[in-house]
Amino acid sequence: MKNNNKVSYSYCSGYNYNEIKRAVDNIINENQNLIDILKSKKGLKVLIKPNLLAARHPDKAITTHPVALQALVDHLQQYDCTITIGDSPAGAYNKNVLDKLYQTCQLKDLENAENVSLNYNLSDEVAEYLQGLSIKKFLVIKPAMEADLIINFAKMKTHTLTRLTCGVKNLFGLMPGVVKFRQHIAMPDIRVFSNMLVDINGFLEGKVFTFVDGIVGMEGEGPSNGNPRFSGALFGGWNAQAVDVLACHIMGMPIDTVSTILDYKSIEDIELKAFDEVKIYQFNLPPVRNRSIPDKYPIWLQNLLTNMIVAKPIINKKVCKGCNVCVEACPAEIIELQTKKAVIVSYPKCIKCYCCQESCPYGAIKLSKPPVEKFFMLVRKFKGK
Ligand code: SF4
Ligand code: SF4
Repeated sequence: MKNNNKVSYSYCSGYNYNEIKRAVDNIINENQNLIDILKSKKGLKVLIKPNLLAARHPDKAITTHPVALQALVDHLQQYDCTITIGDSPAGAYNKNVLDKLYQTCQLKDLENAENVSLNYNLSDEVAEYLQGLSIKKFLVIKPAMEADLIINFAKMKTHTLTRLTCGVKNLFGLMPGVVKFRQHIAMPDIRVFSNMLVDINGFLEGKVFTFVDGIVGMEGEGPSNGNPRFSGALFGGWNAQAVDVLACHIMGMPIDTVSTILDYKSIEDIELKAFDEVKIYQFNLPPVRNRSIPDKYPIWLQNLLTNMIVAKPIINKKVCKGCNVCVEACPAEIIELQTKKAVIVSYPKCIKCYCCQESCPYGAIKLSKPPVEKFFMLVRKFKGK
């Protein structure tokens, strides 16, 4: 579906099943080529890939809402397909983790529908993408490799590393378990990391249709430590980058601060029939890494300024429960438990991937807001960007 920049949008007033089912029906019916694929063969293998970052209640707005997934599963019942619902969350990837994930994210009931199963296949396969900008070979969970069609059902959230996590970033979850941490350490530069996300999307191009649950998204220190924020938006399309452009528009996020969609300059670059119906908001945005520094500066200056502005993870010892999750999540292996509290023992080795902040179940890790970062944010505000 190369160059298909069409995005379909529906507004929902909340997680009301009937309203969401209508919205899902509308989005699919607006995309005849998706229906054609769904009808193309008996027993079509469909993988629904929600955002299941961590085992959290749906009200936290961290994961794709189960009512939205139920509406999609119910819509798909009219086609002759087998449906697997699966994701590889942050951290460990095993049966116990998946059990807890499905239970807490309230997905267990989805298996009541015919031909629907929650994924417990832990195997993976090497994907080869020779035109990749950042990676040419990488591991992908088996159900994604075997699927005829992947329905990527992302959550619309701010992200302290990539600024936005939505359609493009959601496919990072197709890399199994801790392999994701290794990618962080191998790619500390946000632009290299973002190109890797685009590569994963490129490899799967043509077999991924993206939906976004932005009905209640997240603002602030996403993807897991921000605050739920209503926008009523449910939208989707074949091109995850075009879908993410609409997410930026809805959230009031400058497109040029999201490194995965730099080919797009404005909302006018996408095809959006329901443009006048789209409700836009001003989400609180997270501290940024180096995208706030203009590209026209020489690389050495960008690197120097990056070191001056980059937000550091700070552990609040009063909130820390000593659960060890961040210790296991840190790809640089610089967090230790000392007298039952987490401590970052070597800031110079910190690659600012924010996996620790993302994975802390108690919100004990916040990001510093250095003065230079605040200065660039003010400049942007002044320029109205
Ligand atoms: S994950 Fe959070 S609560 Fe657990 S040890 Fe780390 S900082 Fe403390
Ligand atoms: S301390 Fe946090 S931000 Fe730094 S490398 Fe470890 S996980 Fe990443």
